[in-house]
Amino acid sequence: MNNKYIHEQYEEDEKLKEECGVFGIYDFDGGDVASTIYYGLFALQHRGQESCGIAVSDTNGPKGSVKSHKGMGLVNEVFTPELLEGLKGDIGVGHTRYSTAGSSTRENAQPLVLNYVKGTLGLAHNGNLVNAPELRRELEYTGAIFQTTIDSEVIAYHIARERIHTASVEEAVSRAMNKIKGAYSLIVMSPRKLIGARDPYGFRPLCIGKRDNAYILASETCALDTIGASFVRDVEPGEIVTITPQKGIESDKSHCLPKGQEARCIFEYIYFARPDTHIDGVSVYQSRILSGKFLAIDSPVEADLVVGVPESGNAAALGYSLQSGIPYGTAFVKNGYVGRTFIKPKQSNRESSVRVKLNVLKEAVNGKRVIMIDDSIVRGTTSDRIVRMLREAGAKEVHMRVSSPPFLHPCYFGTDVPAEDQLIAHNRTIEEIRQVIGADSLAYLRTERLGEMIGGMGHCTACFTGDYPIAPPTEDIRGSFEK
Ligand code: SF4
Repeated sequence: MNNKYIHEQYEEDEKLKEECGVFGIYDFDGGDVASTIYYGLFALQHRGQESCGIAVSDTNGPKGSVKSHKGMGLVNEVFTPELLEGLKGDIGVGHTRYSTAGSSTRENAQPLVLNYVKGTLGLAHNGNLVNAPELRRELEYTGAIFQTTIDSEVIAYHIARERIHTASVEEAVSRAMNKIKGAYSLIVMSPRKLIGARDPYGFRPLCIGKRDNAYILASETCALDTIGASFVRDVEPGEIVTITPQKGIESDKSHCLPKGQEARCIFEYIYFARPDTHIDGVSVYQSRILSGKFLAIDSPVEADLVVGVPESGNAAALGYSLQSGIPYGTAFVKNGYVGRTFIKPKQSNRESSVRVKLNVLKEAVNGKRVIMIDDSIVRGTTSDRIVRMLREAGAKEVHMRVSSPPFLHPCYFGTDVPAEDQLIAHNRTIEEIRQVIGADSLAYLRTERLGEMIGGMGHCTACFTGDYPIAPPTEDIRGSFEK
């Protein structure tokens, strides 16, 4: 595939997207929780900008009475003060979504609310299952009718079915976990309980917080900070936590794997999560600083200035600077108003999306040898434009350093790392990629450094190495329910 072709096909799609953010809360004092969920989702907006929703229930009211609202758009576009006012209840779940499986429609927005003989279940899911099509077919042959095309509904159905034969919802969640395979951080709201579950590999994060007499479950700790809650602990990979006023937090660790076998998504640390988040005890910001330090140690180059491609390249650039002694600076001004509804320039237009989003500070780079750090190169379309912009602004040399290894394989666990033939590193050497993006030198983070970046914890590197922690589906199943 030549570079021009890549441009035409994918110009707007360079940055990877996370699938979802989840948030849940149970206020034991009976206070309304909808506005807290709103602010929690607002803090998780970076994890999904296509749709969002909130479902709440009154634990003292009739079982099965759930009020919910969801829609397409950002949290502050979908919810108004009046809508939040109408969502009365002391327990609730919320969700922000970007679709990596299932199309982008209002029906596919979450939380899912399921009415069944035992009452009502509200469910918010982050991740992707690898066996969703089989499970869905099985359910359809026994009469299930699906309302959505997302694999989260498969999980909700399984929990509801198991619940008919189990003594508690958490037991039903546990039994459902025996069947579902893949990545999931789940929050389940039953009429009287809030339940959090993380798949045994811990692909996606999930943490517990507390504010006064309310317990919170959230994808990232930054959501706890935003609502003034304190961090209690992470939900461990494979753990199910059940939150009730009678027993506080109860834990079931029967699905946990031996330490080191977990497969946390390393890209949460490199790019997806907010830098002010901690995942499983490791600061995302510090891990990015470390990645920059490793790049400086492993791939040094003489230069006058280190800059990051905002925002996620900035911390790695600072790390590179701290290690190398080369001054850290700002080379780019980012337009923060480029949102979902932004009208993308056509190929024939003189305007380029990259230029609309980023501009170069000429005064900062003119006449300098610049090291530019970005978190990843997916298709390579943005990188070559940014390199060119730096040169046009007077940079004498542009050396690109990437704070992740080259992407060589797709992801099936809840991110949109695409198929091989769309990845610039597929079938290309580093030198060939350097030529495509037009940099003076190019180096990536070494795969062995990923573990060091997060204190040696078990992590997934499948998109770099092809070493999938769970066997991938034999065909690309993402979006397969629509076929
Ligand atoms: S394949 Fe890559 S993006 Fe997907 S979970 Fe693993 S590390 Fe994360």
